[in-house]
Amino acid sequence: MASRDPADELRAQIEHSAAGFGAALRPLAEAYLRAMDQASAELAAFARAVGEALTAPRGRAELPAFTCPRCGRTSHHPADLAHGYCGACHDFTGRPGG
Ligand SMILES: [Zn+2]
Repeated sequence: MASRDPADELRAQIEHSAAGFGAALRPLAEAYLRAMDQASAELAAFARAVGEALTAPRGRAELPAFTCPRCGRTSHHPADLAHGYCGACHDFTGRPGG
């Protein structure tokens, strides 16, 4: 029996395994690509919806806002909302009970 080069033997085994592995993997790869296509489509739709919400005037109007009773300035800053602080007046003009 002719001795085979261990490296050749290993290479043959790897090629044989890779062939079977590749066949088993193909449906997974195709499913992955389909999922990626769907995900990128959903991501694009989400980005579009966010963009529309940010640019539409009604989108901004629906954000919580604090309007200063003294100068009428409107702020969407969460801290201004929480404390009734007006950056234009530099005062807590909207403070409850204040
Ligand atoms: Zn003000």
